[in-house]
Formats: sequence, structure tokens, C-alpha cells
Amino acid sequence: MSCLFCRIVNGEVPSKKIFEDESMVAFHDVNPQAPVHVLVVPRTHIATLNDLTPEDSALIGEMTRRAAAIAKELGVDARGYRTVFNCNSEAGQTVFHIHLHLLGGRPMHWPPG
Ligand code: 5GP
Ligand code: ZN
Repeated sequence: MSCLFCRIVNGEVPSKKIFEDESMVAFHDVNPQAPVHVLVVPRTHIATLNDLTPEDSALIGEMTRRAAAIAKELGVDARGYRTVFNCNSEAGQTVFHIHLHLLGGRPMHWPPG
């Protein structure tokens, strides 16, 4: 299997996991862009946001709610945090298995770079 995040989800590649259930895994980003930088990753391989189907709606909702729960657990819920799905090259997607970035612990700027 060549997909890095499939391999992390399966435990073939180590990661600092902070949550997992039957549908997703969350782990710390190896190259954090903020004091809190967690990736919420579905177990199922979906390459980009463009590949979502109606059947994925509940999964995306659960991932979003999980990101909020992790933000609370890590103490950034009240100050604020950002959640991001990058899609394809202009957005900077580098791993083609969808993942929700949870970023927090410092002020975020808008518009994003
Ligand atoms: P993207 O640019 O595709 O939206 O985000 C991919 C993210 O995965 C990047 O923030 C990058 O630092 C992270 N990443 C890449 N390889 C690994 C890895 O092997 N382990 C972990 N934990 N994160 C990774
Ligand atoms: Zn994958």
C-alpha cells in the first residue's frame, strides 16, 4: 500500500495518535505549524475533497465534531482554533488521503497565505 496515511491508520507507520475509533484516527502532525497541530484522518481512503460522495457526509460530520472535541481536550476551544481541508495543488495538499487539520495555540491570520 503506497498511501502514507493508510499506512499510519493501519499502524504500519508510527505516529503520535491521540484518538482512534472505527472510522477515524487523529494524530499530531510531524511538522507542526502551531502549538496544536493535529490531523483527523478517516480510515477509508478518499484522495481529495472532490471525491466525496453523499455516503461520506456522516463521516465528515464526525471528523469535524472530533476536531472540536480534541480542541477542547487540548485547551484551545475557548481561545479559538482553525480547521482546514486542503484540496489539490493550489491549496497545498501534499498527502492525497483527506485529512482535517486542527491548528491552535497561537493567533491565526486571515486571509490565509
Ligand atoms: P497537506 O499539505 O496534504 O494538507 O497536509 C499534510 C500534512 O501531513 C502536513 O502538515 C505534514 O506535515 C503532515 N505529514 C506528512 N507526513 C507525515 C508523517 O509521516 N507523519 C505525520 N504525523 N504527519 C505527516
Ligand atoms: Zn490512503
